[in-house]
Amino acid sequence: RRTITRLPEWLKTPIPAGNENYKQIKKDLRGLNLHTVCEEARCPNISECWGGSNKNAATATIMLMGDTCTRGCRFCSVKTNRKPAALDPHEPEHTAEALARWGLGYVVLTSVDRDDLADGGARHFAETIRRIKSKKPSLLVEALTGDFLGDLDMVKIVAESGLDVYAHNVETVEALTPYVRDRRATFQQSLDVLEHVKKVKGPDGIITKTSIMLGLGEQEDEVMHALRALRKVGVDVVTFGQYMRPTKRHLQVEKYVTPAEFEMWRQRAIDMGFLYVASGPLVRSSYKAGEAFIENVLR
Ligand code: SF4
Ligand code: SF4
Repeated sequence: RRTITRLPEWLKTPIPAGNENYKQIKKDLRGLNLHTVCEEARCPNISECWGGSNKNAATATIMLMGDTCTRGCRFCSVKTNRKPAALDPHEPEHTAEALARWGLGYVVLTSVDRDDLADGGARHFAETIRRIKSKKPSLLVEALTGDFLGDLDMVKIVAESGLDVYAHNVETVEALTPYVRDRRATFQQSLDVLEHVKKVKGPDGIITKTSIMLGLGEQEDEVMHALRALRKVGVDVVTFGQYMRPTKRHLQVEKYVTPAEFEMWRQRAIDMGFLYVASGPLVRSSYKAGEAFIENVLR
C-alpha cells in the first residue's frame, strides 16, 4: 500500500489572522470556563467560524460528557476507555450559563459516545439544550450526537429538546463503514437515527445534517449511493471534508481530494436536493454552520 506523506499545497494555507469579530469572541471566552473543540483541536477554520462578517452567525463547537469515548473509530484521536468518568451533573447548567454570556450566534454541542450509560447521555444532551434555550432563546443550537446504539427513544429525547439542527455523521460510505468506524456503528443504524429525527419532528420541524469524510478510499458510485440514501431519509444538509490522519496508528489517507473535486461533490449534492452543502478540503461538519443556517433556513 502507498503511504502518502506530502501534503498538497491546498492544505497548507495559513490560518487567517481573524477580524474584529473574531478577536472579540476570543477575548470574551476568557474566564467563561468553556472548552471549545475549535481551540483544543486547533481547528484551521477558527477565524472564519468565530469571526465571519455577520456577528450573529459566530459559531463554535463544545464537547460534552468528558474527553474519553467508549468507542474506538479508526479515524479519530479521542481517548478510549470502556468506563469513562461519571457525567458532571452540573455541566448542563454551567454550559448554558457560559454560552448565555458569550457572544455566539450558533453553537454546536457534540460529545464522545457514552455506551456505558443506560441512556447514552441523551438526557444530559437534552437538559443542556433546554437550559441554553431558556437562558438565551436566540442562540441557535445544533446537536451532533452519536447513534445511541440504535436506540431511537434516545434520539427522540434529544430531538424534542428544542434544538434547531440535529446532526449525526455517517462519516464515510457504507462499504467502508466497518473499516472506518467502531464496529458498533453501521451505516443503516446512522440512517435510522437521521430518519427518526424527521419522524419525531415532522419533515419541516427540524433540520437534519450529516458529514462525510473523503480520502479514505471511497469510490464515486459509493458516495452517490450514500447521498441517495441520505436524501431518502430526508437529510437536509451534508458536508464533505478531507480525512486527515491524526497519528500513524490511524487509517492512512488514501487520497488528497482536490478542491475541484470537492466543488463537484457540492454541486452534485445541491442538484440532488440538499438544502445546503459545505464541501472543501478543510471543511468540518460545524464549518461556518451559523452562517449557512442563517442564509439558507432563516432567510
Ligand atoms: Fe470550531 Fe467546527 Fe468551526 Fe472548527 S469548523 S472552528 S471546530 S465550529
Ligand atoms: Fe471518536 Fe466519535 Fe468514534 Fe468516539 S464515537 S471514537 S469520539 S468518532
